[in-house]
Amino acid sequence: MSGILAPQVHALTDTYTPDRGDPAYVVTHYDLDLDYKVSTNRLGGRAVLDVTVLEDVRRLVIDLVGLRVLKVAVGGTPAKWTHRGPRVVVTPPVPLPRGTRTSVAITYAGTPGPARTPWGEVGWEELTEGALVAAQPNGAPTWFPCNDHPRHKATYRIAFESDSPYDVVASGTLVETRVRGSRTRRVFEQQVPMATYLATVHVGRYVRRTLPSAEVPVTVLLPATHERPVMHDLARLPEMTSLFGTLFGPYPFADYTVVVTADDLEIPLEAHALATFGPNWLDGRRRHERLVAHELAHQWFGNSLTPEAWSDIWLNEGFACYAEWLWAEHADGVPAATSASTHWALLSRLPQDLVLGDPGPDLMFDDRVYKRGALTLHALRLEVGDTAFFGLLRDWTATHRHGSVSTDDLVDLVDVHVRRSHPRSRARADAAAARARDLLEQWLWGTDLPRLEPAAGAS
Ligand SMILES: [Zn+2]
Repeated sequence: MSGILAPQVHALTDTYTPDRGDPAYVVTHYDLDLDYKVSTNRLGGRAVLDVTVLEDVRRLVIDLVGLRVLKVAVGGTPAKWTHRGPRVVVTPPVPLPRGTRTSVAITYAGTPGPARTPWGEVGWEELTEGALVAAQPNGAPTWFPCNDHPRHKATYRIAFESDSPYDVVASGTLVETRVRGSRTRRVFEQQVPMATYLATVHVGRYVRRTLPSAEVPVTVLLPATHERPVMHDLARLPEMTSLFGTLFGPYPFADYTVVVTADDLEIPLEAHALATFGPNWLDGRRRHERLVAHELAHQWFGNSLTPEAWSDIWLNEGFACYAEWLWAEHADGVPAATSASTHWALLSRLPQDLVLGDPGPDLMFDDRVYKRGALTLHALRLEVGDTAFFGLLRDWTATHRHGSVSTDDLVDLVDVHVRRSHPRSRARADAAAARARDLLEQWLWGTDLPRLEPAAGAS
């Protein structure tokens, strides 16, 4: 396995999702072989997890919600298990010493549905005709057994058999399609490390369209009846990918898929190299184009660079929100500075009790995380100047491509870039670095809304 997957020891599960994940092991690869019947919403199959054990263990805890385990084997030998709530506790036939690499095979079945969480229902969702997975933050175990933590990235192979009239797209590249009678089996391979929450599958009666794009192939799956409004509202996606490629660095995946469901959806959501919209967000009047930009930006910020922990959620949402403002500047001539001052004014009238760098589970998807996160980036841009700021963004996405990131990683990289912009004076470099650090400290760890103004020393 590559260095990206080198296991690190972490003592705790994620404090925002304490009933998910087992820090005693990592999964480096998931092999899912699944069978789904649309009319009964019946899902069954087998998951094989390639596991590396990080400490001496007598048991492994695996996350699985709402589905029934039928059989477990560890390293090919049947193993005992208990399943309570979201946790499957597997007892291997022999204790596993630290460093053991083995496989855990789980046969399971049931009628999947969303998990009820503090953030609403997440995970598997049955549609009027078909199904989807929208798993952020902890819905992945509603459709496959996993070690559910954003830091645990793995490769995947997903074989998915379903009723032939339905189109299916899952995370990864389609490598095989086989029609047998009324059933079609498709195999998807994901060779880029992916977090569990970003794994997805979509089943529906869709037609496929492609967008002419110079750089990134874009495929749209949509209900035939919605073609005109949807394609109108997505028409500027190629231009968006090209703008973001210039500002953020190369698009991190081979392609991009947008799935538009027939049912209205509460919010759009990102997955790995994919985004999902309800038709209510793409109604032919381009009223929600900022969200098209937002979900696309997550491919860099969230999906390629995935938070180490949910407390770092602003690294997803602040960046994606700032990308909305950059798009508005490019496409509609609304300067990012105008978006920033508008949202600064709105935020200043809201309660100032949120710590951006660790908002707590209840506030992790609070709109203030998005807006204060974007404002933090704008404040940093004003402080360091455009050249250093966009150089930093591109370095950020290149350095941590397909990896995991923390707020500390960003603060460290800011320091490097600020110093680099003062190559001839150590004293000026130190002073500029201290100013940038203080600025980030206030925005990330304070609660009061800092003023938004260019620093005296900024270029
Ligand atoms: Zn988002």
